[in-house]
Amino acid sequence: MERMRCALRTAIADSAGNDTVTLDRCIESAEHARGRAIKIRAVDLSETLVFGLWVDLPTHDLILVDRYATPAHRGHIIEHELGHILLGHRGTFPGDIEPAPDVMHRGAVLCRQSADAEIEHEAELFARLLRCELHKQQLRRCGSLESDSARRLALSLGYRP
Ligand SMILES: [Zn+2]
Repeated sequence: MERMRCALRTAIADSAGNDTVTLDRCIESAEHARGRAIKIRAVDLSETLVFGLWVDLPTHDLILVDRYATPAHRGHIIEHELGHILLGHRGTFPGDIEPAPDVMHRGAVLCRQSADAEIEHEAELFARLLRCELHKQQLRRCGSLESDSARRLALSLGYRP
């Protein structure tokens, strides 16, 4: 569980005390901690059984996201793959996945179809905890809304400061 806390702290490190906490900022924090870029690319995964992949390339991390995923699902996919990265999981190359030729650099790949159910569970838990943390941060911002109408609207949408 300490590894999970540490991964979450890393993801939100650069956002601490900041007004705008977003998934993009979490990605930047992860890049800073790892000292290398995390690139995200939308690709057509509709012919596969997966919605997202992390490709651990020699020079950077690449997260592939199904281009047909809804925005909310896309966020969850990225959070899940970020979990793999920050939890220090190691990828393997599943035989039934064929990433686009330009990403076939012998990068290790992790996806939700990975045979290791434990690391998939960990990445999923990370994604949910990170989402909760982002919601909490948004709630704090919501509590500081200056307009009564904006506060009422936020509350009606389920935000509970
Ligand atoms: Zn996974």
